[in-house]
Amino acid sequence: MLASRLYSPTLREIPAEAVVISHKYMLKAGMIRKIVGGIYVYMPLAWRTLQKIEAIIREEMNKAGSQEIQMPIIQPAEIWQQTGRWAVYGDEMFRLQDRHGRQYCLAPTHEEMITTLVHMDTNSYKQLPVSLYQIQNKYRDELRPRFGLMRGREFIMKDAYTFDKDAEGLDIQYRRMYDAYTNIFTRCGLHFRPVLADSGAIGGSTTHEFEALADSGEADIVYCRHCDFAANTEAVVPNTLPCDIKNDKEKELVATPGQHTIEMVCDYLRLPIERSVKAVVYKLDDTVVLAMVRGDHEVNEVHLQNIYGAAVVGMASEEDLVRCGLTAGYISPIGLKKSEHFDIVVDKSVMEMQDACCGGNQKDMHYIHVNPARDFGDVRVETIRMINEKDVCPECGGEIVMKKGIEVGQVFKLGTKYSEALGCTYLDQNGKSQPMVMGCYGIGVSRTMAAAIEQSHDDDGIIWPVAIAPYEAVIVPANNKDEKVMAAAQALYESFEEKSDEVVLDDRNERAGIKFKDADLIGYPVRVTIGKKWQESGNVEIRIRRTGETIEVPLEECREKVLAVLSNLHSKNQ
Ligand code: ATP
Ligand code: MG
Repeated sequence: MLASRLYSPTLREIPAEAVVISHKYMLKAGMIRKIVGGIYVYMPLAWRTLQKIEAIIREEMNKAGSQEIQMPIIQPAEIWQQTGRWAVYGDEMFRLQDRHGRQYCLAPTHEEMITTLVHMDTNSYKQLPVSLYQIQNKYRDELRPRFGLMRGREFIMKDAYTFDKDAEGLDIQYRRMYDAYTNIFTRCGLHFRPVLADSGAIGGSTTHEFEALADSGEADIVYCRHCDFAANTEAVVPNTLPCDIKNDKEKELVATPGQHTIEMVCDYLRLPIERSVKAVVYKLDDTVVLAMVRGDHEVNEVHLQNIYGAAVVGMASEEDLVRCGLTAGYISPIGLKKSEHFDIVVDKSVMEMQDACCGGNQKDMHYIHVNPARDFGDVRVETIRMINEKDVCPECGGEIVMKKGIEVGQVFKLGTKYSEALGCTYLDQNGKSQPMVMGCYGIGVSRTMAAAIEQSHDDDGIIWPVAIAPYEAVIVPANNKDEKVMAAAQALYESFEEKSDEVVLDDRNERAGIKFKDADLIGYPVRVTIGKKWQESGNVEIRIRRTGETIEVPLEECREKVLAVLSNLHSKNQ
């Protein structure tokens, strides 16, 4: 490829809306262009990277025994109504109508569609297992589309689905997909961790997320330094914390004028925050739930949702508070009564406390010397708090590490939720009808590209792992006006016969400085410069983007050396 022909219009200024590095660099390098929020054009450089990621995915999925198909993006409402997700998906689903007024959606995922498909032609145990996958656009009207390709409204996903006779069959498929994902992300050069996750709204049991480690990630993950425990913090049930502060005083109401946050109250009463209990009021479907956690803890909303089996989680409105007799800023369970649409749930660690402070259920008042087990009355007790840095591993008690992750993939044991809802059954050996046991497995292809950049860049630009770099090498003639230099560069370029599609010749009539800058921004893993040095000594310079290392070789040896460097990078997945 000649750089003069490459359609990658670079920008001088980065649009202000870009906050994460992958978004900034992809815009700057002319890899993507925004059309509307969360919807982008992939320009040639990005498209090449995406195709490389897809090629790796295809190889590994085929190896895992899955076959590629292509399902419709436009899907009829009926199949979504059968599983109940037409309602559950809410505003995140793009919906449309045809000329006859029939309703459709743009697929956010394909469980309904694939189950409908497999149901059509699979009816005997002899036909199982079935494993199918596709790579295509998905559509989700995300509440906050942001961070460029990391959270788009139109994005590329690889989604695979397996159908088995029983749980043992599913276990085998799951393991196979888990291993395939491990290979895929390793080959893409990502630093990642598979972590236990919550199966959430999609239903099912076991699930792992593959998290690319990066500070810009939206997921909080935790792992143990000693055992192999690793999880999304949403999925962790932390240990109940003991409390050795004894108290035999009765609870006492004290004035706390204007002190309506837990920090203000603790400050005012000169109490450490871990001696306080805070209230958070949720609306779970149509139930108002008062959740109580220690002042220094946070509520795990995902657990809360699971405990109540709620489809929708939100904060309670002011109206809800008034209806339940709650005084914002001063709430506690003391003196409150549960009712049909009002429940109180208290974290187990709170129930261990004996001398706590909490809301007085009237304006400007708090209780002190509260013993929740004694004073809270009839409440539900569950572990509803998030794990935090001060905790230990819930498995082995060892030291934990908390990191941010970008969810690049997820594998799910779905079970029979979808096959039952859509009647996807088979006849077993005894002629008895059974629902198929399903698994589903997703990879965010466009998000993977962004994650690679989040993990691997410097102040000058992208540092691509060679396997997914748009091009592997660039040849930079330092002076276009010098015919000898240009001829040498051209000859070297042509010599890369078998790699010709991976090498760019920067033939643009630009200063060497600009060419170097663009090469660093685009992130070619290897750069060859033919310039003054070559004219003086016959040597050209090979520079490795990742390490900054430079190697001087005579022009005649350059081709072999570049191939060797590239092959070394490939073998190290760098
Ligand atoms: P998230 O929690 O980040 O919203 P998800 O769990 O809803 O993602 P899945 O339904 O598991 O996503 O989809 C499979 C994969 O698709 C995810 O692991 C992720 O890599 C990718 N993905 C999901 N939503 C988006 C999005 N809005 N933009 C880009 N990629 C996405
Ligand atoms: Mg997911």
